[in-house]
Amino acid sequence: EGSKLSEPGLYIAQIAVEMAPICKVGGLGDVVTALGRAVKEQGHHMEIILPRYDFFLQSPLLGATRYETEFDWGGCRVFVSSCTVEGLTCFFIEPQNGMFHHSGVYKGNDDAVRFDFFCKAALEFLLQTGRQPDILHCHDWSTAGVAQSFWQDYQPYGLWRPKVVFTIHNADFGMARLGSAAHHCQRFTTVSPSYAFEIGGLPAFSGHVSKFFGIRNGIDTDIWDPQNDPFLARHYGPEDVVEGKRAARIALRNTLGLTDWEDRPLVGVITRLTAQKGIQLIKHGAWRTRDRGGQFVLLGSAPDPKVQAEFDGLAGQMSGDANAAFCFSFDEPLSHLIYAACDIVLVPSIFEPCGLTQLIAMRYGTIPVVRSTGGLHDTVFDVDWDKGRAAWELEGCADWQMEQIDATNGFAFDGTDAGALDSALNRAFDAYWNDRQWFHSLQARVMRQDWSWARPALDYIDVYHSAMTS
Ligand code: ADP
Repeated sequence: EGSKLSEPGLYIAQIAVEMAPICKVGGLGDVVTALGRAVKEQGHHMEIILPRYDFFLQSPLLGATRYETEFDWGGCRVFVSSCTVEGLTCFFIEPQNGMFHHSGVYKGNDDAVRFDFFCKAALEFLLQTGRQPDILHCHDWSTAGVAQSFWQDYQPYGLWRPKVVFTIHNADFGMARLGSAAHHCQRFTTVSPSYAFEIGGLPAFSGHVSKFFGIRNGIDTDIWDPQNDPFLARHYGPEDVVEGKRAARIALRNTLGLTDWEDRPLVGVITRLTAQKGIQLIKHGAWRTRDRGGQFVLLGSAPDPKVQAEFDGLAGQMSGDANAAFCFSFDEPLSHLIYAACDIVLVPSIFEPCGLTQLIAMRYGTIPVVRSTGGLHDTVFDVDWDKGRAAWELEGCADWQMEQIDATNGFAFDGTDAGALDSALNRAFDAYWNDRQWFHSLQARVMRQDWSWARPALDYIDVYHSAMTS
């Protein structure tokens, strides 16, 4: 089913616990906002329901909040306020039992209880205010509970209209809940076709594959825009990528105290530091970069103190090195500067549902070196052997055109050991040192590729339509 212009707009309510930029932890938060904006741009009505965490109330990104309503539910008074964030209407659920008075989105042990409460309170809000969305779109284990609660406790009692779409951003957490949502929803999706293929056979999902779709994430090209980025002093596009990145490199070297000003390729890693992201490979990449005459920059936050200690150790070993910098924080402005300044971004994930860093990197003319898994496989096409697949996937080329059109955009490897990483990273360094002109043309090419939400948003709208008629 297509989303035809003549059809009336859909009314979609996303129920989520993260939303960029006010309460973002990872890619999930980016998707809620960017998908919301892209769907709205297609003429549909989009609302987002979130917990009202007290940590974001001081955020300058939050517009004026308005009182909406209040009701008793689950043994306490629940207030609902509303606000516009990034052009989207948001409703904040605030139970008076202090459940969301916490310094972060996730808290630990009682998260399941908190988020289950939130899911039901969100449904109660829809019921109490007489809303009848066409679609309830929920995300990951944290709002998986919406699907079952809705069909059991709300759909038969007045909230009759909605169908449920569920998106899995990471199947590594809360499998029982994901399985329940897959069972109770009308359609479920994950964030890339390859990851859908990888997890589709898991027992929790295998009985429901006919309603399962893989749609790759996009990036918000207004927020990630080197031609108009408030965190860059000099803006640039594909035509002046070399000059633009040179200016960003100077700024980054100044910011981080990288005192070696020689001509060197900058290799960046921007990530949560968890096992998923390939910790050993990231560390190896730091040493390999030094061996190959590059400069290494890591921006990462490690929730696990043991992992943090490992990286503290690495930073200690490399300290005094004018060619390595480690920033252990979550720093949005700095991330923009790193994406712009680097020549190469390293994403050696062990598994990766979609991955946004490689997409953002390309938007800034930074060449991805990735482990070819999940969404990384679907978005990065190796310059040496993926020409056919790139032409087909990115340009929709027929067989006979494939050899003429080069849409490859990075370097990829398959294995999980240091040698595998080297097989890709070394080729990137070779290209930088031996054929600079070609490297620069590759940078300009990746900047021109379209990683926006335009295409994936249409795919989601199709999924919404098909959920409504199921
Ligand atoms: P995940 O959702 O698994 O963390 P993604 O690649 O999907 O990984 O999304 C990561 C997002 O978080 C990107 O927008 C990336 O730029 C950002 N990010 C990750 N770590 C940091 C950090 N330490 N500081 C700033 N931004 C970060």
